Order: sequence, then structure tokens, then C-alpha cells
Amino acid sequence: MHKESNHYDVIVIGVGGMGSAAVYQLARRGRRVLGLERYDIPHEIGSSHGHTRIIRLAYYEHPSYVHLLRRAYELWREIQQHVGEQLLHITGSIDAGPPGSWVFEGSWRSCREHDLPHQVLTGAEMRRRFPAYHLPHDTLAVLQPEGGFLLPERCIVQYVMAAQALGAEIHGREKALGWEPYRGGVKVTTEYDIYYADKLVVTAGAWASKMVDVLDGLATPERQVLAWLQPSRPELFTPDRFPVFNLLVEEGRYYGFPAFGIPGFKFGRYHHLEEVVDPDDYDPEPNAEDERILREFASRYFPDGAGPTMALKGCMFTNTPDKHFIIDLHPDYPNVVIASPCSGHGFKFASVIGEIVADLAERGQTRHDIDLFRLARFKTRPKAQQLKTHTQAPEAIRPFW
Ligand SMILES: Cc1cc2nc3c(=O)[nH]c(=O)nc-3n(C[C@H](O)[C@H](O)[C@H](O)COP(=O)(O)OP(=O)(O)OC[C@H]3O[C@@H](n4cnc5c(N)ncnc54)[C@H](O)[C@@H]3O)c2cc1C
Repeated sequence: MHKESNHYDVIVIGVGGMGSAAVYQLARRGRRVLGLERYDIPHEIGSSHGHTRIIRLAYYEHPSYVHLLRRAYELWREIQQHVGEQLLHITGSIDAGPPGSWVFEGSWRSCREHDLPHQVLTGAEMRRRFPAYHLPHDTLAVLQPEGGFLLPERCIVQYVMAAQALGAEIHGREKALGWEPYRGGVKVTTEYDIYYADKLVVTAGAWASKMVDVLDGLATPERQVLAWLQPSRPELFTPDRFPVFNLLVEEGRYYGFPAFGIPGFKFGRYHHLEEVVDPDDYDPEPNAEDERILREFASRYFPDGAGPTMALKGCMFTNTPDKHFIIDLHPDYPNVVIASPCSGHGFKFASVIGEIVADLAERGQTRHDIDLFRLARFKTRPKAQQLKTHTQAPEAIRPFW
């Protein structure tokens, strides 16, 4: 490929969920941008595969995410209109759990604080309204009509193609080996070449701490497993009759989707078996124990969706100790932007995080409130992080409600 020069305004390491939105936003602002991706675009080895990702406005993790979500929705609608492909599907969202539980209370609080349209339903009301759901009678659920799902692989493809149309250069299968400060900018060494830029954005997902040492112990990859089971009553699991869900039950916290993309009802358990992994050295392949745990959940709470297994897929969360994102400038090199927004809930924000990252790369600041995501909140760097049980909110999240 002919290269004009090896100098760019901005280099983005990692063209997955966040990196694809970032290269688009930067290219749109007229920046000369290079995106480096170590695998294919898209691929199934990181955190952004599996056909669907939940998006919801009601946010039990913290009400302050709602401002960002409003902008995220706007930007998703904007890109889907620009490219002429539906990337966002609205089904409504359910956040349910026992009365007083952090999932139900947090979601309900975010609806009240932000004046979001919503309804509160009991387990029995849920069953009447959405017959696929067989929730315990004492369950309380927030139904928020704007929830739904995004198509993550298609979002990545469309952001990359839109960025390319604006002149961005994207290299798949080119791993960045490292970066260093160089003459007021950065020098990035890959398997094949050396590149220079004024600014660097690191959106390397589960590999983020391998690229940025200040993330060591703060961005911890964790193995996850997704399941798709054939429904015995498929008419109950269509997007118009089955809202996406976050559900807290005695076995843990689960999330799920209507059938879409694969002929099955899709769901997973947050923090699955709490297996911290090295993304370069673990076995993502689902096994019989993974399948057993997931099938038990479906049999109990979605019995009409617990038919033969259609697919199982491994995936990775990248958890911070408080489960909020990290989006900030590097504390020692302010021309390096770090975005590690996962902890199991980042994809829905990719559109707005692309905008935030572009702001930070261009001006070192953003109009969006990202105080919750600053690195300085971690005064000491914990080496390892663990959740105590599947059903409790992480310690650092709980005090907010
Ligand atoms: C099973 C599962 C279910 C989820 N469900 C939801 C959901 O319903 N809703 C939601 O909002 N979020 C959800 N999430 C979280 C969400 O998917 C993540 O927050 C998001 O995908 C993270 O995007 P990312 O860009 O940080 O990582 P990725 O998309 O993995 O991108 C990082 C990229 O960096 C590349 N890379 C790494 N190192 C290098 C290098 N040295 N050189 C070049 N490239 C490199 C990787 O190959 C990768 O492509 C879920 C996550 C998982 C795993």
C-alpha cells in the first residue's frame, strides 16, 4: 500500500467497539488518523462480538450515565442514518430483581431522577405482559420503553467504513508492539512498521493494560460465556414481544435478548465464573460446565426458551475495581488518551465515547461529564479484583443508592 508518510495527527490502537467510533469521530473532524487492529475487523477474540449488545436509558449502575446515554442514542441514530443500515433495535428494557435490590432500585431511581418514561411491574404482571418471563412472584421490574439492542459487529464495520470514506487509514492484522513519547508526540512500533503521531488513543480492550502500564491492576480481563438456546415457543422470543433484560435472581445477575442473528434466545451471567484471564493465554472455548450453568438459569426463568443449545461463545469483560469506566488522559503523557470502557456494560456508550475520545485527543478536554471515569479516583492501584458474590453490587457501586 502506498503511504503518504508515516506521520499522523492521531493513532488509535485497537479498532473494536470504542476504537472504530473513535477513528470515525476523528476522521470526521478532518484529522489524519491511523487505526491499528491486531486481529480482523471485526473479530471474535475480544469484547465486541456475539450479534447483540443491550442499550438502555434506565441505568442502575449509576444515574449519571443517563446524560451520556442520551447522546449515545443520538449518535447511534445519526450513524445508522448516515450509512443506511439499522444498527439499533428498540424492544424496551427490563431491570428486575427482588424488592430493595440494587438492580431494581438503581434503575427505578435513574428513571425518577431523569424523568424517563417507565413502568414498575411485579413478577405476575411481567408474566401476563411478556409470557416468556417466569420470574419469582416477589420480583419488581422497571420497564423502560427506549431500551433495546445494538448490532456490535455491524456498528464496528459501519464506523470503520464511514471513517475510511473520510480518509482514515485502518490496518487490520497489525499488532502494535508498543509506543513511546517522541519529540512532543508519540512513536508507535508495530509488527511491520514504525508510525508517528501528535496524539495517541489506546482503545485496546482486554489488552489495554499491556499497552498502558498505569492500567496495570485497574483493567482486568475476565472470561465470559454467552448462550443461545432454541425456544420451544419462538413467538414469545421475538424482538416485538421480548424486551432485553437485566435480572438479579438468587443464582446471580443475568442479561438477555430476544432471538436475533442466531436462532436462539440469547443470555449470559455477569462475571460468569469470575475467571480472571490473560487475554493472550486462556481458553475462551465454552465447556460443559459453562453450558450447564446457563441452561439451568433458562430452564428456571425462561422455560419456553430452554430448548436445544444453538450456540455458545466466549468473550471478555475488562473490569475496573469499581466497575465504572476509565476514560482519561495518561497521567504522565497528556497527549495519550486512554479509554477502557467495559466492565461488562460499555458497548452501548461506544458512539459517545468515540466523541469523548476525539475531544480529549484534540483539546485535552470534553464537554461531557467524565468525572466518574477519571484515573485519579484510584488512589492506590489494587493488584487483583474480585466480586464477593454474583448477586451483590460491587462495593464501590453500592453506596450510590
Ligand atoms: C459477553 C459480553 C456481553 C456484553 N454485553 C453488553 C451489553 O449487553 N451492553 C453493553 O453496553 N456492553 C456489553 N458488554 C461490554 C461491551 O461489549 C464492551 O464494553 C465493549 O465491547 C468494549 O469495547 P472495546 O473497544 O473496549 O474492546 P474491543 O471491542 O475488544 O476492542 C479492543 C480492540 O483492541 C485490539 N487490540 C488490543 N491490543 C492491540 C494491539 N497491541 N495492537 C492492535 N490492536 C490491539 C483488540 O484486538 C480489539 O479489537 C458485554 C461484554 C461481553 C464480553
